[in-house]
Amino acid sequence: MDCITISDLEVFAYHGVLKEENTLGQKFLISAELFMDIWEAAREDDISKSINYAEVCKEIDGYLRANTFKLIETIADRLARHLLRRYKPLREVNIKVKKPWAPIMMTLDTVSVSAKRSWHNVYLSLGSNLGNKEDNINKAIQLLNDQEDCRVICKSSLKVTKPVGPVEQDDFLNGALYMQTILSPMELLRVIASIESQLKRERVIHWGPRTIDLDILLYDDEIIQSSELTIPHIEMANREFVLEPMVEIAPWLRHPIFGKTMKELLEEIC
Ligand code: ADP
Ligand code: MG
Repeated sequence: MDCITISDLEVFAYHGVLKEENTLGQKFLISAELFMDIWEAAREDDISKSINYAEVCKEIDGYLRANTFKLIETIADRLARHLLRRYKPLREVNIKVKKPWAPIMMTLDTVSVSAKRSWHNVYLSLGSNLGNKEDNINKAIQLLNDQEDCRVICKSSLKVTKPVGPVEQDDFLNGALYMQTILSPMELLRVIASIESQLKRERVIHWGPRTIDLDILLYDDEIIQSSELTIPHIEMANREFVLEPMVEIAPWLRHPIFGKTMKELLEEIC
């Protein structure tokens, strides 16, 4: 990807763990790598198709003066996310925050922290079989889209499906959506859990009826296996009610473990 780089922009601000740092202030040096495609801006030689680095410098200065953080880790993380939200063409940013006057009673050149943040491509499955099912799903999508670090790009149609598993229960309404997010997989899992609880999901019986079930199907090409999170979703390739809506929105998308497209996976189980 192409990159615009800003190096060591000086900003006078009030971040720090010590009270003195919050009152006296100090100089911070900010570097930003702004990753995006510049081919269209270059072809037309038109700044409106790119990101104006003078504006970005002002934005960084304004953001670091308007907010006070204790840690340079926080500055790097929050500033990176802020820039991704603020400038549409940005795909990824790498922010480096240097503190030249770190008060440690010793001599050093600088202390610095870097944070790389980007928009990730995520597919979620949506399901409901309790209450007003369509309403529950639409509310969940709305709550997701209201998150400043998430933007829902498109959603499949919703289909009535028969429940699977041992529990006798009402039919499900199922679908899938494609979104972009700055959140990490674990942050996204927490957001999903909070939306499920806002929509009064109660975990009474495992695989039992639920007002809403939101599962992460795919997160870029990542393969994650932990006690809390399995991505790609462990059952996605076996479930028609997941693959059918996925084929509707992204038939060409390849499963990162099986190497097959959503369309091929659906054909295998039908
Ligand atoms: P299920 O979706 O299997 O019916 P739950 O929605 O109750 O069951 O999820 C139980 C747990 O599954 C969650 O608390 C979460 O930690 C874990 N989990 C593992 N991988 C995923 C994933 N890809 N998406 C959502 N939850 C997941
Ligand atoms: Mg779930």
